[in-house]
Amino acid sequence: MSGRPLRVHPLVLGFEPIRESISVKGGDEGLFLLEPVTATAVVYLDGWVLLDSGFNADVVRDPQERGRYFNYDSYTALLPPGDPLPDRLAALGLGWDGLRGCAISHVHVDHTGGLRFLPATVPVVFQREEYAFGAGISPEMGGAFATVPPDYLREELDIAMIDGDTALAPGLTAIDTAGHTPGHQSFVVELAGRTIVLACDAADLRRNIEESIPCGSVMRPQDEEAARRSIARLHALDAQPETEVWPGHDPGWWAWGEQTVG
Ligand SMILES: [Zn+2]
Repeated sequence: MSGRPLRVHPLVLGFEPIRESISVKGGDEGLFLLEPVTATAVVYLDGWVLLDSGFNADVVRDPQERGRYFNYDSYTALLPPGDPLPDRLAALGLGWDGLRGCAISHVHVDHTGGLRFLPATVPVVFQREEYAFGAGISPEMGGAFATVPPDYLREELDIAMIDGDTALAPGLTAIDTAGHTPGHQSFVVELAGRTIVLACDAADLRRNIEESIPCGSVMRPQDEEAARRSIARLHALDAQPETEVWPGHDPGWWAWGEQTVG
């Protein structure tokens, strides 16, 4: 990959009802937000990179599979007609043959589903801590951890493990925002004159970033402190000049209504 990222395409790949208390620590357990499931394509002159990948539509639409992974209290995956990831990419003119790499923020169901489309030659970047966490979840336990382990444990995938802050490509850096999950990562995209930080699920809502309040759920109680550190990090990044931190699941965040930014 050469040069800097030219533009990003915000991708909304479905929706999910989420308790406010899951998105915001101390939030209302009885209030549900209909949150977009997001991913981002980062486009260079000579290819593009996919950050997160939405639901696995084959799992969501198969009653037996769905029951195995989505059968928990007050949660359902909502998909538009068709298969949103390939459909959106096709509409943007982004072909799989131009895909140079993929990085996944964390192993939850609403981020790993599109990995099944990836050509075997495309590296898939996870934080080592996160992949180890995901690999320790059996398919039977997937639903309890909001994961579909077969999405990311497929043998054909070319998994690349990184540890902490790591440059992925010119103008594209993975940063450690552990807490929500043990090895959660966010992404910094440096466009000309504008830096976008994709918080992913280290900040579901803009409110998390502005008020420095972590998301309400961690997978392991010992990660609470990391979640607080990560939201403080995103809050500080948001105050940097020409830097904007995008929340991963905010229904009101302007960028998720755009086709192209940059
Ligand atoms: Zn999510």
